[in-house]
Amino acid sequence: MMKFSYLPYSIILKHQFSISYHSRKSTPAVLLKIFYEGYEGFGEAALPPYLEETQESVVNFFKQASKTYFEDITDLHSVSQTIDSIAPGNYSAKAAIDIAVHDLAGKILNKPCYALYNIKPGQLPFTSFTIGADAEEMIKQKIREADEFKILKIKLGTKHDKEIIKTIREVTGKPLYVDANQGWRDKKSALEMIEWLKGENVLLVEQPMPKEELDDLQWLKENSPLPIIADESVQRLNDIEKNINSFDGINIKLMKCGGIKEAYKMIMRAKEVGLKVMLGCMTETSCAISAALQLVPLADYADLDGNLLISNDPFFAQTVIEGRLNLSNKLGLGIEQKFNLPFIDIS
Ligand code: MG
Repeated sequence: MMKFSYLPYSIILKHQFSISYHSRKSTPAVLLKIFYEGYEGFGEAALPPYLEETQESVVNFFKQASKTYFEDITDLHSVSQTIDSIAPGNYSAKAAIDIAVHDLAGKILNKPCYALYNIKPGQLPFTSFTIGADAEEMIKQKIREADEFKILKIKLGTKHDKEIIKTIREVTGKPLYVDANQGWRDKKSALEMIEWLKGENVLLVEQPMPKEELDDLQWLKENSPLPIIADESVQRLNDIEKNINSFDGINIKLMKCGGIKEAYKMIMRAKEVGLKVMLGCMTETSCAISAALQLVPLADYADLDGNLLISNDPFFAQTVIEGRLNLSNKLGLGIEQKFNLPFIDIS
């Protein structure tokens, strides 16, 4: 029998985080620890406000899931189906359980999680490092602090996008990923912006327009000189089909899709239909980041900087070395608690 314990946790950002429609200084999360036959596995639900889940809804979901009987918790396919069938939605809560079960399965089977999918680490890509929208001097300071990182990710979709890029170009010529977070409302001006960005050493554009605008997105994709990556448009496996013609790739995040198992299925489907894969994240601790990291050898792009942007990471994990992602060969997720966390048992 699995025994669940949880800890509501407030993830504190080093800098205020701003995207096209809001800004914040912390992100609520719920950490999860599952005991099973002498092993313990860690999971995490990170809850940025637009996801609708709350710490309370996550804990309630854990309480329901803790009553579920799993015949063999190393049978990740069946565990994932069972968790998914408990209730609709609740994807961050589901991701937390899926992550903890993967950590357990790795420890029980004496393997790192990536080996559970026969993935060979090889040399991993550089992660992009996010520079949030901010005042000019602050942007420059953040860029200087990000010296280690080879690719920067910039949040646009504001009224002064070109000024932001020009400010960045005063301090660095590094390649950029741009995320408009649905902030551009007109396809022709979006295309003009993308053409201009190409000349500024931007490598790709994420979610340029609102997810509802499939036809405009398709037109933009067909005319864009840069790859267009879906984020808000694609949450789970089922969302891929209707977006195939509107994007060149998809940004997969564990908190959106419900965990490592679903993310793996999405990667396989994306490869079948010729979509590129980015692995992305929310503001997360090294627990959820280490979980996504297990799949990075299968991805074309990685944006796994969430744990690097926070000041109270409760876990140790060396996820990045000199800007490049790093998979340890430790068992499970390969993470350790930095200090004893006051987990609360679900009886
Ligand atoms: Mg995005």
